[in-house]
Amino acid sequence: MTFQIPCPNCGSRPVDEFTTTGEVRERPKESPSRRELSHYVYFKRNVRGIQTEWWYHRFGCELWFLAERDTNDNRVLETRLPAPSRSEW
Ligand SMILES: [Zn+2]
Repeated sequence: MTFQIPCPNCGSRPVDEFTTTGEVRERPKESPSRRELSHYVYFKRNVRGIQTEWWYHRFGCELWFLAERDTNDNRVLETRLPAPSRSEW
């Protein structure tokens, strides 16, 4: 199945130009236990519906961005750049 993703930098492009690392999840605290780390790495919510995901324009501008995607039909509702992290302030 192919669909288009609007890269915030390049505009609408075929999904084959991108890769995703999946849903956005809250990172564990600074020194997580093995259980917390394992849960973070291996257990996804895998929702049916709209979720926020990390996407990378691999064969384009190489930008990482966030996308709101409906997993029912792969419709991408919105893409945006992530907010700056607090460590950069
Ligand atoms: Zn791009």
